[in-house]
Amino acid sequence: MPESSGFYYPNRIARAFFVAMDEVMGVGVARNVLQAAGLDEYINNYPPDDMNRQFDFANLAAFTVGLEKLYGVRGGLGLAMSIGRVAFAKGLQDFGAMRGVKHPAFQSLPLDKQIEIGLQGLATIFTNFSDQETFIESQSDSYLVHVHNSPFAWGHQQDYPVCHTLTGLLQESLNYTTNGKPTFVREIECGATGADHCIFKVKILNDGHA
Ligand SMILES: [Zn+2]
Repeated sequence: MPESSGFYYPNRIARAFFVAMDEVMGVGVARNVLQAAGLDEYINNYPPDDMNRQFDFANLAAFTVGLEKLYGVRGGLGLAMSIGRVAFAKGLQDFGAMRGVKHPAFQSLPLDKQIEIGLQGLATIFTNFSDQETFIESQSDSYLVHVHNSPFAWGHQQDYPVCHTLTGLLQESLNYTTNGKPTFVREIECGATGADHCIFKVKILNDGHA
């Protein structure tokens, strides 16, 4: 059991990561990852589906370590991104802030507006319901997603960014808001490498290239 961070996700968002892990890896393998992460107490005992802020960020940081322990840095990265993508679909796209996205009025907006509003919706969910404060910054050709207190970087020191789960989650949120238009997401700064906070760059891909 990792030492507490003092920062929390609501149970519903945390639960989405567990459900996603089962879907991406299968229940048996997911159990191995939980054991490798020191999260045995959550085996067959996922967080409840409610909005209480009770799921410690330290557990999500441990989960990243568990994936790397079993699959190495590269394998862990791919799995974490897949888990993030499924977690968005399972746990976040039904929040009120994301619901307007499927409305015809939203669908007729220009692509850059769709992306901006979609990212703002996601940022609002994290900032309002969890201790992961998230802000969107518009740039001329891209958006920056600023994440303070990334759960996946909490307590980590690495020479590379570690928040692949959030990268995957952002990718799937963009896929959802734009109806599958090609976009590019990369974590360009990470708290784990000594940066003040994590920053993800989001670009629209017009020709298949960033
Ligand atoms: Zn990070």
